[in-house]
Amino acid sequence: MNPETPLTIGETLRLATGWLAGKGIPSARLDAELLAAEVCGIRRLDLFLSPERPLTPGERAHLRELLRRRARGEPVAYLLGRKEFYGLEIRVTPAVLIPRPETESLVDAVLDRVGSGAGPHPRIVDVGTGSGAIACALASRIPEAEILGVDLSEAALEIARENGRRLGFGDRVRWARSDLLEAVPPDPPWDVVVSNPPYVAETERESLDPGIRDFEPPEALFSGPEGVDHLRRLLPQALQRLRPGGSLVVETGSTVQRQRARALVSASFPAESVVEVRDPSGHPVGLAARTSMQEEVVHGR
Ligand code: GLN
Repeated sequence: MNPETPLTIGETLRLATGWLAGKGIPSARLDAELLAAEVCGIRRLDLFLSPERPLTPGERAHLRELLRRRARGEPVAYLLGRKEFYGLEIRVTPAVLIPRPETESLVDAVLDRVGSGAGPHPRIVDVGTGSGAIACALASRIPEAEILGVDLSEAALEIARENGRRLGFGDRVRWARSDLLEAVPPDPPWDVVVSNPPYVAETERESLDPGIRDFEPPEALFSGPEGVDHLRRLLPQALQRLRPGGSLVVETGSTVQRQRARALVSASFPAESVVEVRDPSGHPVGLAARTSMQEEVVHGR
């Protein structure tokens, strides 16, 4: 691009798409649109209402920088600093995992479960809350719930807090630093423990999408040789903190990892209570289980 000639939005999109595609970016057109809209300060669909509008030199320089970073594999959500999750705009930085659409099904599974027997103010804890996406989505749907988001990372909690504040949840969602549930008192008991824990096996590191491996926080991704170290530690902690008939809802990884996860969950929770959480197209994304209804049995474990 000759820096002297002003480029219109239409021309810019064409050039940027071709350039990104040439760098091997599969979603070149969409990414070019998102980044162009960002630098122009307009919504993506508004690009098509003003294809003749020229970019200012400042916008063009900004776009060039974003396109370079995208070509190196940096995820668009980090370039924009936000990602939509459950209809909410969630702020993200490289300190947190980018919320994924499949995780929305975990939120749905929790919503299904709080209906039954949780009382007027269901108590829900989101373990490894990261950006706070799950906790915020639940707060948006269950105004009367008491929600706690915990994470080991202070940097992540800062983002989560900002998301809770910006989305207007105030005191309805609290945030705390905790290694899984270690710092979370068992009393009063919880109705739901939900978590999208790190679940990538170390052995999968090399085959992982470089956009994920090189840019997302490793502590949010990896969980020991088989990808179940966090889950294994979480299970007894969750059992101690759930009320009788309370629910665990966790995201799991690939098929092999999900089988391991299922065996672990079934060994801790009543095996007949363990079910798969599926996305709207029926693809399994996680597991849910319920503690036994009799208090003695739960506490006797
Ligand atoms: N709970 C956050 C999410 O689902 C972060 C999960 C993580 O960091 N493993 O997006």
